[in-house]
Amino acid sequence: MRKTIQLGPGLQIGGDSFVVMAGPCAVETRELLDQVADAVAAAGAGVLRGGAFKPRTSPKSFQGLGLPGLELLAAASARTGLPVVTEVMDPRDVEMVARHAAILQVGSRNMQNFPLLREVGRQPKPVLLKRGAAATLDELLHAADYIRQEGNEHVMLCERGVRGFDPSTRYLLDLAAVPALRGRTDLPIVVDPSHGTGRRELVAPMAKAALVAGADALLIEVHGAPERALCDGDQALRPADFAVLTAELRRLVALCGRRWSRPETTGRVASVPGPHVPGSLDDEVVAP
Ligand code: PEP
Ligand code: MN
Repeated sequence: MRKTIQLGPGLQIGGDSFVVMAGPCAVETRELLDQVADAVAAAGAGVLRGGAFKPRTSPKSFQGLGLPGLELLAAASARTGLPVVTEVMDPRDVEMVARHAAILQVGSRNMQNFPLLREVGRQPKPVLLKRGAAATLDELLHAADYIRQEGNEHVMLCERGVRGFDPSTRYLLDLAAVPALRGRTDLPIVVDPSHGTGRRELVAPMAKAALVAGADALLIEVHGAPERALCDGDQALRPADFAVLTAELRRLVALCGRRWSRPETTGRVASVPGPHVPGSLDDEVVAP
């Protein structure tokens, strides 16, 4: 039996639902976060993403705003009606992050941080577990077992690319992992085409391919001014491009016999300016 995760009325992850989680790589300022949160909500996203604790390769890079970032995320969530997914890196922060977010993300660098896995397993919020950049699917599934063994069954697995040999893309997005995992687990499967490619122009094609491959959800980075982003600007979609992508995804969702899922209570925030796109939220899309 495939597990589903219910996140309030209208929003389900897994089963016949399809969910897009979107937002900036990192929370930078209230203004930038609110702009992106409004845009992704208007474009039909079901979950708002944004990092307050950032795992950065260099300690000199922007590390995230910490608690103030969580507070900005909680405020954006209350305003838009979108639940928040955000990363927790330290077992000591799990309680604080769980107080502000609906979904706790365990990042790829921490996929085998066993104390962290146990700690997120001891609290009730759903966990988005990212595949390590050099982890096999076996290792990913065992990492999920660490969380489940503590009593938290609300785990989703996220393919976000593995280390390849070719610098043409940031990572090698392993879409075969989606059907391969499907045969081996009851957990919902998420794909992150942003980190998986590292290049803005590759995000939309791989997002659509992930849906067709059977993913239950996508995790996509969006930024209002990617050229000025403090983190991962090269892979961030602009809000208008994100709106075009969700319109295309909605048509594909119907073709794939899935249901576009987002909170019933999503605030009707101002829609993204731009031409009307067939298949946008104003059109009825009915699964065949
Ligand atoms: C992220 O989603 O913000 C992130 C840091 O991803 P990953 O752990 O896949 O690198
Ligand atoms: Mn990022």
